[in-house]
Amino acid sequence: MQIVNGKTGWIEVICGPMFSGKSEELIKRIRRAQIAKRRVQIFKHGIDDRYNSTDIVSHSQQKLPGIAVTDIEDIMQMVDDRTELVAIDEGQFFDAHIIAVANKLANQGKRVIIAGLDLDYRGRPFGPMPQLMCSAEYITKQLAICMTCGDPANFTQRLTSAKDQILVGASETYEARCRRHFEPPAEEPEK
Ligand code: ADP
Repeated sequence: MQIVNGKTGWIEVICGPMFSGKSEELIKRIRRAQIAKRRVQIFKHGIDDRYNSTDIVSHSQQKLPGIAVTDIEDIMQMVDDRTELVAIDEGQFFDAHIIAVANKLANQGKRVIIAGLDLDYRGRPFGPMPQLMCSAEYITKQLAICMTCGDPANFTQRLTSAKDQILVGASETYEARCRRHFEPPAEEPEK
């Protein structure tokens, strides 16, 4: 195993609601590393096929080629020993194993950047994101702009009545809302 010499790895998490610029921020950090000739590998969860099955794409149509995976172990198989930056988009869709994988890669001396939704459409923590934030050295919380009033938006309002935690969509299905205008769905009665 070749560890990047003389370097300590770390984890960066970029979180926030939909439309808050997580993908834009991830793309910006990747591009800067590429300009500095760092070895970069880019992954995203394969469930998000809004635009293209492999590219990381922002809602503002910025994009970078990546590899779509659904099993986080596949990333461990694909990461080259010499890679210095591992970027992962849509981190919320991976299972809890992503926490161990991110720590392992950082312990190998790599910079690991994970972007993902911190809250789901109910306003509850999404998947492994809370634990990833606990492991991260750096956390960037992005906010969008509330579509109702223009205040800072921390929530993703689902515009349909679907109840699944995962429902892939863009502005036809979701919009950014502040805490005053976010309307979480009614709680399901206990069975
Ligand atoms: P995320 O990855 O957080 O969903 P993206 O980086 O894909 O966000 O997209 C951010 C872009 O979304 C903004 O630059 C802007 O063009 C667009 N956008 C659409 N709706 C909003 C909103 N309500 N607030 C801010 N940006 C928005």
